[in-house]
Amino acid sequence: MSASEATSLTRSLLRFDTVNPPGRERDCARYAGSLLEEWGYKVDYYEYEDARTSVIARAGGSDAGSDAGSAAKAPLCLTGHLDVVPIGSRAWSHDPFSGETDGDRLYGRGSSDMKAGVAAILLAARAMAKKLAGTPGIVIVLTAAEEGGCIGSKKLVETRLLGRAGAMIVGEPTSNYPLVGHKGSVKFHARFKGVSAHGSMPHLGVNAIYKAARALARLEAFDFGVPAHPVMGKPTLNVGTIEGGNTVNAVPDAARIGVDIRTVPGMDHAQLLNRLKADSLQEADLDVFSDLGPVWTEPQQDWMRRVFEICRPYVQEPLEARTAPYMTDAANLRKVYSGVPTVVLGPGEAAMAHQTDEYCSMERIGQSVSIYEALIRDWTGA
Ligand SMILES: [Zn+2]
Repeated sequence: MSASEATSLTRSLLRFDTVNPPGRERDCARYAGSLLEEWGYKVDYYEYEDARTSVIARAGGSDAGSDAGSAAKAPLCLTGHLDVVPIGSRAWSHDPFSGETDGDRLYGRGSSDMKAGVAAILLAARAMAKKLAGTPGIVIVLTAAEEGGCIGSKKLVETRLLGRAGAMIVGEPTSNYPLVGHKGSVKFHARFKGVSAHGSMPHLGVNAIYKAARALARLEAFDFGVPAHPVMGKPTLNVGTIEGGNTVNAVPDAARIGVDIRTVPGMDHAQLLNRLKADSLQEADLDVFSDLGPVWTEPQQDWMRRVFEICRPYVQEPLEARTAPYMTDAANLRKVYSGVPTVVLGPGEAAMAHQTDEYCSMERIGQSVSIYEALIRDWTGA
């Protein structure tokens, strides 16, 4: 693999417009899938909706459905998402979809988050393709619809296409610094019902906004009652939206707030929701629309120590346990790959994600290919 190959594959991926919404990952997914097929991988596609395409590719002893293999070591999973966020309203000084370069920088929407990561996964897969037969193998999962709620991976979890995995690498932007997890999140709407009446006779109605206001005061003071996590810190709660009422001269019969909670390892989401209902939201109906557990692997875990060893030559700073500020598909995929050790590790620059003039370092994409190859060799013995 030459550095220019890493750049040109990233550029090819950038040229597919996978801005989400609307997404339209199909062409990009088919392109990645056809490369993997050419290199000898067994490829499945899954569309949860028209053109919202994810790719699952396997090589080595990881063929899905082989029960005989279930006692053997499971494959290593490498995962990334194909969609990117909108280009935003500010003007770009480089075309967001053509892959212009300047020095070591490769510009484009999704360069850092995370088509560079997908390109590195693909090139490592190509390098190892011929060596994986008879080993635990690898499974590559490229998802649609990660941005804005990890919907693509949520839908994949409902299929049987993911098979097994024994450890997972999520190629999100970390500048090749291995991160040992991220917080979980629970997002919900709390709906309050009232009884409408004329604004001149409020005693004849029940004001849904007052109910919401009482809940808001309790939520602001809500105590999670859990100690701070040594790396992730404390869980958080934010009320991000509020809606209610139709007109100033009527008693509102409906109000709604949107709540975003970020959780740390050890917290049980079902228990947390029950406590919230009992302590703060007695007067509300809850509509939970996103529920993703925290992702955490002990830095002392055997495989994570190997990951740190392999990354060490590529990272300038000392390696310590750090976590990502963002969510990843791992939260969903670990529902099937039941809590496997997981590292968030990819060539993109975290600070560039979702920015105008997003770029990535071309040198880091090449380094990332070497890191992924080393991790695949380490896992499979290939
Ligand atoms: Zn991302």
